[in-house]
Amino acid sequence: MLAGATTTTLGSTLLLSLPFFSVSVLAHAGAHESARGLPGPGYWYQRDNHPVHDLFKRDSAGATDGVSYPAVGSDGWSNGWPTQWSNDSPTPRAEWVTALNAAVARKAIPTYAPSTVNEAGGIPTYASGLNPNDASVCSGTYGCAIPGDVWNAPDGHIGISFDDGPLPPTDPLLDFLDAQSGKPTVTHFFIGSNILEQPSQFTRAFTRGDDLAVHTWTHPMMTTKSNEDVVGEIGWTMELIHNSTGGRVPRFWRPPYGDTDTRVSAIAKEVFGLTTIVWNQDTADWSLTDSPPGTSLSAINSSYSGWLKGSKSPGLIVLEHELSNDSVDAFKAAWPEIVAEGWQISSLATLIGNGTVYLNALDDTAAVNPVQDVVLAASVGLPKSSSAAPTQSGANLQAGGTGAGTAAAGWVEYQCEAYCRWDEYRAKFFCSANRFTKRTL
Ligand SMILES: [Zn+2]
Repeated sequence: MLAGATTTTLGSTLLLSLPFFSVSVLAHAGAHESARGLPGPGYWYQRDNHPVHDLFKRDSAGATDGVSYPAVGSDGWSNGWPTQWSNDSPTPRAEWVTALNAAVARKAIPTYAPSTVNEAGGIPTYASGLNPNDASVCSGTYGCAIPGDVWNAPDGHIGISFDDGPLPPTDPLLDFLDAQSGKPTVTHFFIGSNILEQPSQFTRAFTRGDDLAVHTWTHPMMTTKSNEDVVGEIGWTMELIHNSTGGRVPRFWRPPYGDTDTRVSAIAKEVFGLTTIVWNQDTADWSLTDSPPGTSLSAINSSYSGWLKGSKSPGLIVLEHELSNDSVDAFKAAWPEIVAEGWQISSLATLIGNGTVYLNALDDTAAVNPVQDVVLAASVGLPKSSSAAPTQSGANLQAGGTGAGTAAAGWVEYQCEAYCRWDEYRAKFFCSANRFTKRTL
């Protein structure tokens, strides 16, 4: 496959275009509805919103990695995790540190110091000589988008997601979604500390088919954290989601406040295989409950109208929260216009992942590959294997300069990974795409 790679030089920027497979990869969530058809019109399986579907819905409890995990909410489930909402990030597991060290040793993690914030908070700043807008640092807080991180949705699409749950307002959010035509699913960027406190909302989101992703353990400004702290924040949340979903490994994470940089995003990718998702529009709904409020429902509605009636290129990723009833109300108020303006609507993780929401499973009901096939193998250098799908991974490509394999100043390394899986239920391949990591060596 890699023989088909093409390299284009634009000034000093090197772009790689890699056809992963000859399978056509549908770049949007409509892929679910365009499965290869059998003779006859319409669909050869019951669509998710068909009444019959509920009668034959597969039991999600049967689609696990074969390991028995404690029931979500039980004592066995909630014991043994790091302290919730500590000021300190949780200590990472030794295996994750090993994977981190391996990534550092292969020069996959930038070596500049973490950013700092003053005691009053505010914008993170970097040591002198480091420019947060430069590609070498590329701070999300400063609006710099790291190649491979996701800020935009595909044209014409809006990917729906909510941050900071699970929390009590998760319930009215899900009540609302359940009452809509087709019971749309959404992505939840969950905080590990909140999951332990809200097992019922967690379970409800998962069992309705919503997509679960990582939003750290204690919700810090991640660029201020050491490499080890970044690993602890992400790893424990991934593990808690893994243990609470029959072994599913999240594929996406969102840095709190959008605060990532090339170091943090590289750790997420290199240690855990995570893709970083940010956003391209911000409701500021988190500030509805500030005193005084930082925004209002009418202001959010007005913003939404502008976004929804505006250009459909790029598509929308709107930052929203299940943080308060007010923030949920802001989404509920916007929903009729989201529908009316002709956007293709889907869960953000489903949209960005082309239907593959987890690193080792398509979604909340499909078969699960044991975790060692994906993340931990990638982390600690074990050979990857998959019994379920043709897999192409771990191809390192270097472009620019001469003497491939030498880490010379000014070189850019691209890593390309794709996981493709044959989904019997949908009778089509699903592939991860755009899993590029660009690093300056
Ligand atoms: Zn957040």
